[in-house]
Amino acid sequence: MSRIAWFKDLNRNSLSIAGGKGANLGEMFNLGMPVPPGFCVTAQTYKEFIDQMELTPKITQLLNNLDPENNDRLQQVGDKIQQLIISTPVPEEMAEEIVESYELLGMERKNTDSLVHGNDVFVAVRSSATAEDLPTASFAGQQATFLNVKGKENIVKAVRACWASLFTPRAIYYRERNKFDHMKVFISVVVQVMVNAQKSGIMFTVNPATNHAHEIVIEAVYGLGELIVGGEVNPDLYIVDKNKRDIKSIEIKKKIAGLFRNEIGMNEKQTIPTEMQERQVLDQKQILELARLGKKLEDHYGLPQDIEWAIEQNQIFIVQTRAVTTFKEHTQDRVQSVEEAGKIILKGETASAGVYSGPVKVVRSPAELSKVQKGDVLVTRMTTPDMVPAMQRAGAIITDEGGMTCHAAIVSREMGTPCLVGTEHATEVLHDGEIVTIHASRGVVYEGKVTVHQEEKKEVPPVAGEDIITATEIKVILDIPERAAVAAATGADGVGLVRLEIIIAKSGIHPAEYVRQGKTEEYINVVKDGLQEIAKAFSPRPVWVRCSDMRSDEYRNLVGGDQEPHETDPMIGWHGIRRLLDDKEILRAEFQAIRDLHYEGLKNIGIMLPFVIRVDEIRKAKEVLREVGLEPCTAIDFGIMVETPAICWIMEDVCKEGISFVSFGTNDLTQLTLGIDRNNEHIAPLFDEMHPAVLGEIAKVIKVCKKYGVKTSICGQAGSKPVMAEFLIHQGVDSISANIDAVDTIRRVVARVERKLLLEKR
Ligand code: PEP
Ligand code: MG
Repeated sequence: MSRIAWFKDLNRNSLSIAGGKGANLGEMFNLGMPVPPGFCVTAQTYKEFIDQMELTPKITQLLNNLDPENNDRLQQVGDKIQQLIISTPVPEEMAEEIVESYELLGMERKNTDSLVHGNDVFVAVRSSATAEDLPTASFAGQQATFLNVKGKENIVKAVRACWASLFTPRAIYYRERNKFDHMKVFISVVVQVMVNAQKSGIMFTVNPATNHAHEIVIEAVYGLGELIVGGEVNPDLYIVDKNKRDIKSIEIKKKIAGLFRNEIGMNEKQTIPTEMQERQVLDQKQILELARLGKKLEDHYGLPQDIEWAIEQNQIFIVQTRAVTTFKEHTQDRVQSVEEAGKIILKGETASAGVYSGPVKVVRSPAELSKVQKGDVLVTRMTTPDMVPAMQRAGAIITDEGGMTCHAAIVSREMGTPCLVGTEHATEVLHDGEIVTIHASRGVVYEGKVTVHQEEKKEVPPVAGEDIITATEIKVILDIPERAAVAAATGADGVGLVRLEIIIAKSGIHPAEYVRQGKTEEYINVVKDGLQEIAKAFSPRPVWVRCSDMRSDEYRNLVGGDQEPHETDPMIGWHGIRRLLDDKEILRAEFQAIRDLHYEGLKNIGIMLPFVIRVDEIRKAKEVLREVGLEPCTAIDFGIMVETPAICWIMEDVCKEGISFVSFGTNDLTQLTLGIDRNNEHIAPLFDEMHPAVLGEIAKVIKVCKKYGVKTSICGQAGSKPVMAEFLIHQGVDSISANIDAVDTIRRVVARVERKLLLEKR
């Protein structure tokens, strides 16, 4: 049995040689699909390595008498076996064969096409597990994948690291639990040229919006496709008639940013030059060629396909294909296009999707908030949490400033109200009483009332995905108590974040003012009333409540808010736990409210501290909690937000101090790591939670937390993005919190990634 199998020698029956991933690539290659070239280091090579280097007795000995339920031991054993594999030299002949194939890959490409990158070719090295021991259930664990690998030595190392990933603690655990023989599970490794995508996107061979079977839908952006999945860039949209092979419609979107690979192989978010932003990404020939490939794949697999593609130097590559499972064909046409007559008067970022027509009310100061009547389109420079009652009356919201994680965006998503942010000129362009149509999903505002079918504002609670069970818990973010029932109807496993600020803002009085006036009891009741509604709707599912995190500029309109200090940069000013420890009465009151609810039977509430940078902040907060009569971590879940780089660096000490959980506040973590003000629309395209620095911090924190048995979660906006969810699953996060409208999608993504890991592993 040979050590290397090229894609041309593989097909869908090659599972035992090339694993699931490799077999599928072979199948596509032989169908004539332009898959990026590559080969598999066969599963038999892995076995040969283990046998020849006499690793079986050593591994077996390490696994001997392992109690898989003993987490620390499991971790130790997993680390030791992985270390053993990684430090064992790959036999020379074997390494040479891998290197030769790699060089061949580079040479072949140099002669024939565009995929050449300097002297060596960049490749992706991925584990591809064989299906010999497919378990009946549960989640197998992580599988190593290395992107942008280059150079002979690195390739061999990456292949060996993939082999080692067969022994992650989680993989060991599941084999133990399912009684699989560790030494009879093999792994193949795919080595495939990385496409340096100048353009990329996705293609559905049915129209998922209308369920039309005769339409192929192509979405395209500049650079890598990740930004489409994350909803960060609006892609061009092309619809092709599958049978007639002609283009039915072309919609060009403004593409502000793109993800590109730099010289050292890192993905970098770059601003698209202004003159290209509104240019059509694909030409007619490319659109039709893609559609042809899509149809061919659909015919071959006998099912509609969801395809990922990329273009490098005008050459199309098919990167992945999978069956679309949710398709239901409709016999009746469902109109979904906007009437041609619509004149676009404003553009912005989609903060909360949906379509709405109504009269404009421009709000320039808090005094003007009362003019917003039910159903008006609220237009303002930027919303603040004290505007929530007016926002709840509004049918849609448009702001001049802000990005995806500004408060207008967060709140409107939760309310399910269409919202556009960062339009720059809405308060100048729009006037009171004027009727407009906001098509938030498309990022535009039309003059007058324009009929848009299909995407009417959602009034129906999202359907709970009860049929999907994920190993990772999927929670929801909930700040507005009135939305508790809708949030609970998503079937979420709990609430990963309640921001107290909205409950407070609705009371109209600043917490510091309650204290100044000696009305702390009233404050306790405000907090209790709001939380009770949420905790009851979810009981017994856990609800993590964050202590108040009030920036000095956002609550000026509350009674007493004018006494807040004027800070040059409130984002990094006196808020979160640092402020609560200065104003302990406020913290104590919030803890008292939670204690009362706890003793009244709502034991599902947990506590989360915002904006922590030091261990002593946690210690001091714990003292206050003990003073009110609750023992942190034992009587009640007690955790912190991870939203400052500082806390990532001292996670060991934090864990030693003792907490039940951490939750990544990626809105602030990204802002502080990248030095990007999250509310500044001018640099919004640079705000990137998937930046390697942010991901590095997250990975590091999860690793440390695992060591100490501290649960990990996310409650920043990025938790609603499939790319982030996928990353977190690979890191082994315990739960993910998403916005109400994203719970279902994230649950499906998580299920798919978990399943994929499971299948690849075996
Ligand atoms: C965060 O920073 O990610 C977070 C969830 O908190 P907020 O958006 O309220 O700052
Ligand atoms: Mg925050």
